[in-house]
Amino acid sequence: MDMTTIKCIGILTSGGDAPGMNAAVRAVTRCAIYNDIEVKGIYRGYKGLITGEIEQFKTQNVSNIIQRGGTILKTARCQEFRTPEGRKQAYDKLKEEGIDALVVIGGDGTLTGARIFAQEFNYPIVGLPGTIDNDLFGTDVTIGYDTALNTIMECVDKIRDTATSHDRLFFIEVMGRDAGFLALNGAVAAGAEAAIIPEIAMEKDQLAETIESGFRKSKNSSIVLVAESEVTGGAMGVAERVKREYPSFDVRVTILGHLQRGGSPTAQDRILASRMGIAAIDALLDDQRNVMIGIQNDQIVYVPFSKAIKNDKPINRDLLDAVRILSL
Ligand code: ATP
Repeated sequence: MDMTTIKCIGILTSGGDAPGMNAAVRAVTRCAIYNDIEVKGIYRGYKGLITGEIEQFKTQNVSNIIQRGGTILKTARCQEFRTPEGRKQAYDKLKEEGIDALVVIGGDGTLTGARIFAQEFNYPIVGLPGTIDNDLFGTDVTIGYDTALNTIMECVDKIRDTATSHDRLFFIEVMGRDAGFLALNGAVAAGAEAAIIPEIAMEKDQLAETIESGFRKSKNSSIVLVAESEVTGGAMGVAERVKREYPSFDVRVTILGHLQRGGSPTAQDRILASRMGIAAIDALLDDQRNVMIGIQNDQIVYVPFSKAIKNDKPINRDLLDAVRILSL
């Protein structure tokens, strides 16, 4: 299908919700309408695509949402979309609704599904990276990451009051699903003593290094950010090790959990989502297919789905040094 035949696009959000998804939905919708393309909002991700929870979107449908967290389109996990039969149903629904191309907003799983679907049916899809984890290759940041990072910083600031008052060692678990971006950057932003992240779990014993490198020499309380991970066991796993191996410490665990997902998006996330939403429509008009919109050095880039999904995005190792040096 070439660009001249795109008269109507569908838009959906899928996987975990992330602040800024609404700003992206707004931008995609308005930029499409600006270019005389019809827009259909698809509810509950791939699930609503299969069941046909679809509504015509006008510019008013996305009024007053730029400042709201979550996603007005709702989101869902969808087992059926993982099967060829489920995807065929989705394709039939798109034909029935007259939707010529899709814009999907989500994380790694969402883009994996999009890639498989696009190949199977030779169907044009553009993806936007919407996840607080920041774990997509080919883009410096993802929509929702900055807001989550700020939330983590504020939470750690509050926990520090208690940590300091009681001379305690706190392990604070943050999200990331095997990616240390939130933990590492959160540690720098909140002035934590260390970050324990899965990316370097195989290289060295981060807990032993932290405790043995003069940790708490000059301080009575400490805060360590831990990325959720099966490799390290997350904050619980690390705290249990401390109780066994360093029993003199008074240890506490806080798991920030879903606190990190919600809230009004930061200016940075709103601007990122707005630019990426416009870029998604530009990409479709430019005959780009099966790419994720990324941002590198403040420039919009097109990243093939295969690259965005398959490659692991590296952490910035300078930040490991920053945490170590600044926690003296
Ligand atoms: P987050 O990173 O915030 O969790 P995500 O997009 O990675 O978001 P997932 O639950 O992994 O969230 O994926 C969302 C949906 O994408 C799944 O529920 C499923 O419908 C679809 N999906 C994921 N992986 C595949 C796959 N291999 N084949 C087909 N569809 C998939």
